[in-house]
Amino acid sequence: MTERIFNFSAGPAVLPLPVLEQAQREMLSLAGVGMSVMEISHRSQTFDDIHQSAKQGLRDLLGIPDNYHVLFLQGGASLQFSMIPINLLPAGGGSADYVITGSWGKKALKEAKKQGAVSIAADMADSRYTRVPEAHELKLDPRAAYVHITTNETIEGVEWQTEPETGDVPLVADASSDICSRPMDVTKYALIYAGAQKNLGPSGVTLVIIRDDLLQRIPAGLHTMLDFRTHAENDSLYNTPNTWGIYILDLVCKWLKEQGGLAAMHRENQAKAQLIYDAIDATDFYRGHAAREARSLMNVTFRLPSEELERQFAKEATAAGLDGLKGHRSVGGIRASIYNAFPRAGCEALVEFMREFGRKNG
Ligand code: PMP
Repeated sequence: MTERIFNFSAGPAVLPLPVLEQAQREMLSLAGVGMSVMEISHRSQTFDDIHQSAKQGLRDLLGIPDNYHVLFLQGGASLQFSMIPINLLPAGGGSADYVITGSWGKKALKEAKKQGAVSIAADMADSRYTRVPEAHELKLDPRAAYVHITTNETIEGVEWQTEPETGDVPLVADASSDICSRPMDVTKYALIYAGAQKNLGPSGVTLVIIRDDLLQRIPAGLHTMLDFRTHAENDSLYNTPNTWGIYILDLVCKWLKEQGGLAAMHRENQAKAQLIYDAIDATDFYRGHAAREARSLMNVTFRLPSEELERQFAKEATAAGLDGLKGHRSVGGIRASIYNAFPRAGCEALVEFMREFGRKNG
């Protein structure tokens, strides 16, 4: 077999090996079809079966109730930064609350401002985006059109442990980097969206889980492709979806079920992250970025005593088969992204490398 390294990339990220192997086996021909999934109509029975299975897989894993639509769109989570306010922020009245816990929340806010009135319910800039707000720090408007949060800030490595209480105001979440990493009470949210390329599959598919009643609020006359109703009414088949991406997502859901579902995945993710956080806490050489209570299970961020040492760390790690550890260019430092498909052995290898690097350079 071709050698595979430990891939700490923040996304697109490592996929489960059995999923890649099955895709490889079926690359030239799906069993009984004689063509690859990329070569068949998105309106064929074969693709319909895959599509329905992918939706059902997510419904089973996340416990998504019947009054929510499961949509597979394109344009990434970034297009949702615009589509959500376009659909849900009424022109000339009402405003939306945004909670800013890091870089992606800021990007969502930037687009919402172009659409309508926005209020910042909390901005954790003063903490250098090391934590999420406590309930008393949130300035929530009980008449807001919705509240937007980022469940896991991929760049800073800051994750909400439980969703904020927003009463009757619909809660909207960008869950791009922690979707399906742990159980989630979908009923607490009105809309959940996520780019697939971290925990669900390849880039090019965006999952949108939207509660049915939200569709009633959408203004008439929106551009067809930007209107959530188009995609809900046409079961994500108004235009050609990313058929390959949905096929891989379906395989990933099946793999997740084989792992024991999201509760089992959560336990494994906690154990994996703990190994690295323990190594950070073991010496003064490493400094974790996130406050303990907000530490992400998906993106472990930390600093070394100097940027010079951080560069050296990332370089030597790559040479040792630990790739993708350089922090995001906007914040620097080191970031170990350890999504569902990232193996525990890779975390153990990183911990060993950290011990050795700290010993030599500390
Ligand atoms: N939100 C979060 C939390 C992300 O991590 C990312 C991508 N890293 C995005 C949004 C943007 O996603 P996309 O590239 O799919 O537009």
